[in-house]
Amino acid sequence: MGYDMERFVGYVNEGLICCICRDVLQDPVQAPCEHAFCTSCIHGWLIQHNSCPEDRQFLDLSILRPLYRYMRNDLNRLQLHCTNRDRGCEIVCALESIDSHEYECEYTHVPCPNNGCPVQVERRNLYSHVLVCEFRTRECPNGCGYVILGPEDAQHNCVAEMRTELELLRSDMICQMEDTKQEMQSRLDSQRRHMVKRESLLQKDIEELKSQMSKMMSNMQALMATERQHRQELEQAELEKRELLELMKNFQKDSFFPRNRSKKAIHSPPLFRLDSMKLKTWEATAI
Ligand SMILES: [Zn+2]
Ligand SMILES: [Zn+2]
Ligand SMILES: [Zn+2]
Ligand SMILES: [Zn+2]
Ligand SMILES: [Zn+2]
Repeated sequence: MGYDMERFVGYVNEGLICCICRDVLQDPVQAPCEHAFCTSCIHGWLIQHNSCPEDRQFLDLSILRPLYRYMRNDLNRLQLHCTNRDRGCEIVCALESIDSHEYECEYTHVPCPNNGCPVQVERRNLYSHVLVCEFRTRECPNGCGYVILGPEDAQHNCVAEMRTELELLRSDMICQMEDTKQEMQSRLDSQRRHMVKRESLLQKDIEELKSQMSKMMSNMQALMATERQHRQELEQAELEKRELLELMKNFQKDSFFPRNRSKKAIHSPPLFRLDSMKLKTWEATAI
């Protein structure tokens, strides 16, 4: 079907009118006989005919051609009213732009986007319709938290709804607790493993220290024993030295005092000195 003649402003060339619907060509094609038709009009016609509806010359789909360029340009430049003129749209534009205008025209009827809503409203009223649409999704006005999806949903049982919600929350919580528990458990396990490892390392260190200490103790005991022995030897030597000195003194007394008594002491000093020197040398050797 073509564009309604009534919508056009000014004169429309006869050549731009469909031979079938007598309206202005929409998606035009033309036959070899140069008669032009709307695509949908001629397709419908050729289902039952095989000739041009104007002059009865042979015609089928395969020989239809696009409209001459100059005719297409004339057609595109025609001025027409928006199809929503009756509803209040006052737009008049060239035919080539009419589709894009009508696509976004504020007066075009559009379906409500809510699932199941049969209402069609002018685009400019869509927002206010959606706010009150029975099919809009909205929370229960009683505050139970239920999302009402449509009119038949509005009569739901709030208590049952809340109970379901509660059950869901509870199972969610149980799940979360289970998760947390498992996480804690695994963390604890890993810490325990770590502690066990550290403990065994410490144990090893302690063993090492113990063995070092016992070694040191035995070394010390050995040193102490050696020292004791040295001391004993030293004491022994001291004892012997003292004894020897004693002996020497006694010996000297025995050798010199009798001569003193016989008054020959004046001749004795050289010998005495010699003996005393000898004694000193011996002492030094003993020490
Ligand atoms: Zn037509
Ligand atoms: Zn024809
Ligand atoms: Zn419009
Ligand atoms: Zn609606
Ligand atoms: Zn409710």
